[in-house]
Amino acid sequence: MPTLSSMTVNDGLLSAATWLASPNCNQRPDNTTVDTIVIHNISLPPDDFGASDANGFHYVKALFTNQLDWEAYPYFQTIKGMEVSAHLFIERDGTVTQFVNFDERAWHAGRSSYLGRPECNDYSIGIELEGSDFTAFTPAQYDTLAQVVVAIYDAYPNTRRHLTGHSDIAPGRKTDPGDHFEWARFRGLLSEKLGQQ
Ligand SMILES: [Zn+2]
Repeated sequence: MPTLSSMTVNDGLLSAATWLASPNCNQRPDNTTVDTIVIHNISLPPDDFGASDANGFHYVKALFTNQLDWEAYPYFQTIKGMEVSAHLFIERDGTVTQFVNFDERAWHAGRSSYLGRPECNDYSIGIELEGSDFTAFTPAQYDTLAQVVVAIYDAYPNTRRHLTGHSDIAPGRKTDPGDHFEWARFRGLLSEKLGQQ
């Protein structure tokens, strides 16, 4: 079925995303079906959106590519040496960056379990929204996220069954995407876009 979405996934890459390779990834286990999408939030320093280093490099992008200056903020010391990534990062204006090919395993979930299955990184796609547990996400982020998820559904049909949040797969340890992520609003927008296909 032809899609009206402007976004497509080809060979594990989202057409609308800017590619910025992260070393923090590895192969998915053999015969893994990618069937889950995990939504997160992140901001560096926390609650500071769009912050970047002296070279204009966004701190979140720096973190995901192991280029964060741990001395820049006291908070960075608390995550010093952390090697993490996500497949996608959606900024406040809806801009998308891709760090890891969807066919590979990004390091976003940590110790986690979903429907009794451990190691969510093995079989999931991780999407980080620039935000925090204390601030509303932007309309542009909801819109981009919905378009992105439609494109992922097309490329990885089994993900249609499992859309979840980090706090649901790592309860007690993680709180994102937080109470400000409006699941009903997002699911409504998603249905709308799926209906337009
Ligand atoms: Zn998270």
